[in-house]
Amino acid sequence: MRQFKTESKKLLDLMINSIYTNREIFLRELVSNASDAIDKLSFKALTDSTVDLGAEDLAIRLSFDADARTITVSDNGIGMTEAELDRNLGTIAHSGSEAFKDENIEHQGSDIDIIGQFGVGFYSSFMVASRVRVVSRSFGSDQAFAWESDGIRGYTIGAAKSGERDGAHDHGTDVTLFLRESGEDEDLDKFLSEWGLRDLVKRYSNYVRHPIQMMVTKSRELPKPEDAGDDYTPQYEQCQELETLNSMTPIWKKRSSDVAQTDYDEFYKAAFHDWEAPARTVSFHAEGALSYDVLLFIPGRAPFDLYSKDYEKGLALYSSNVLIQEKCADLLPDYYNFVRGVVDSPDVTLNISRETLQQNRQLRAIAKRVERKIHDELASMLADDRAAYETFFENFGRGLKFGIYESYGAKADDLADLLLFWSAREEKQVTLREYGLAAGEGKDKVLYAAGEALERLKKLPAVTSALDRGYDVLLCTQDIDEFMFQTMRTYRLASDADDDENPDEGGRELELANVATADLDLATEEEKSAAEQSTKDNEALFEAMARALGEKVSAVRVSANLTDAPACITAQGPISLEMERVMMKGPDAALAPHAERVLELNAQHPVFAKLVAVQAAGEDEKLALYANLLYDQALLVEGLPIDDPVEFAKNICSLM
Ligand code: ADP
Repeated sequence: MRQFKTESKKLLDLMINSIYTNREIFLRELVSNASDAIDKLSFKALTDSTVDLGAEDLAIRLSFDADARTITVSDNGIGMTEAELDRNLGTIAHSGSEAFKDENIEHQGSDIDIIGQFGVGFYSSFMVASRVRVVSRSFGSDQAFAWESDGIRGYTIGAAKSGERDGAHDHGTDVTLFLRESGEDEDLDKFLSEWGLRDLVKRYSNYVRHPIQMMVTKSRELPKPEDAGDDYTPQYEQCQELETLNSMTPIWKKRSSDVAQTDYDEFYKAAFHDWEAPARTVSFHAEGALSYDVLLFIPGRAPFDLYSKDYEKGLALYSSNVLIQEKCADLLPDYYNFVRGVVDSPDVTLNISRETLQQNRQLRAIAKRVERKIHDELASMLADDRAAYETFFENFGRGLKFGIYESYGAKADDLADLLLFWSAREEKQVTLREYGLAAGEGKDKVLYAAGEALERLKKLPAVTSALDRGYDVLLCTQDIDEFMFQTMRTYRLASDADDDENPDEGGRELELANVATADLDLATEEEKSAAEQSTKDNEALFEAMARALGEKVSAVRVSANLTDAPACITAQGPISLEMERVMMKGPDAALAPHAERVLELNAQHPVFAKLVAVQAAGEDEKLALYANLLYDQALLVEGLPIDDPVEFAKNICSLM
């Protein structure tokens, strides 16, 4: 007996013993594996000239035996070798297993999460079966192997019995489930019937592209006897007939007006292993020189590995009913990497390798249209269903911001209007456009503050001062925010007359500025000249303070902006304090460039009068102490680390 990998074992245990409300999805999972196996074989036949499938019909077959309590799902797809049986069915969700280990504890209570999260596919059999037997013969091999397990102790693999896949073209796989007895709260017997299986196929696998067939009992009218009299009642006989249970037309080829949303939802869940319906569904078609059908889904929530490096973006690419690539990355820009879906085009060449894909003109044209469609769908979601959009943004907004950053701002025109930020004044999420419209004429800046926690940002002197002056401030807590704003620099607030045809009709250019920048220009002319005057008048004081602070600051001056706080730190030059903070967290912290800091003082504050007095009295040491204290406390308020906490504590004590 071979043992399951540890994490598989834990998962199996959870699954079998949990009351999973959706046990019936087991069939959908097996059928979709069978369909994948057929896809793999057709693909091989197309790309490898030594493979000849002749006139073989590729299909999925269902059968059941009510007395033996078995259901069998068969396919004549690519099959598995002995080693593949071991590898594929001995470990659950290869890519997800590590993550599963980590998340296992958290998810103990919610079995649905686990099943959806890791797409455990094949293992869902054990939700209904006490034993599973898989007989498989790899295409091109003449030996079939059998894998068997009770889903608890482990599994065995050995040669298949005679009669099991030992015919001439017997490649493919049979998965036989030995159903448990129905319990008090579950009716498994219903699956051991024609209508039960037909119902499951219709509901969950109707759009699988390969035929799902089953021998069904039909009644057939017997021919009328020649000598039948007028009172003859028709006679029937029962016969067996092979019936295709699914509609087979791929769902993406249908017009959306002909498909119920519930069908889209089921297709999405089955095809992309999600247990939640998608937030949005987009279907479109093109005909002519380049024909294609596209079906896209915006998921309701982020997959657990979206922000990990293992995550693979891409759309499934089909051509003439053959799956060319399960995840064709070139069809999606990185910032829309969360979108799932299918592109089907007879015009895409089958003979595809990675390089040619990138250079493929057709594919590029499709990708462009896909991108536009996603953009428009998100824009309409933002306009019509704000609550849903906010949830969407919480899940995927970070990616959109990265899009702007990574394109060096080139994508800002497309993406900026899809962003949401927390408004300090409105206390809710706003778009840049909403910010701009609320700011009104004359206020040509979008102010933001960036840092780790919202609560802290709200209280920053620079933020409260800006609010006092009638500006709103966007409070940003994601690392990417500051970098994104720096690459964007400006936001163009389009006028109402603006539309796609006249993109430059009117509108205003708003400058994006961090409230903690030294040259932030919020003050009135009088305040500015007063600050300048005051800086000049106290030149000696500032020089003495700057000397005391040494390399920590590049200047000390009077702030024109501060209203309440005694002092604040701002940055001048290209590196902001927030950028420094983020980079200090990164792997290259030692190399991270430092922001050029300026200590700004509030000349209206009593502390300032005190500084002036100390300097006038020639108390140099005290002045140095005060300068360091003010500097350190301003850093603390900003949420930045102070250079020497011990020194800071000592300084405070010396005051007492
Ligand atoms: P998933 O389908 O999500 O990869 P499963 O646990 O359902 O996970 O299946 C694991 C692997 O076993 C599949 O990726 C596939 O390689 C293999 N497999 C399962 N069913 C079949 C089948 N009917 N024919 C060929 N290979 C199969």
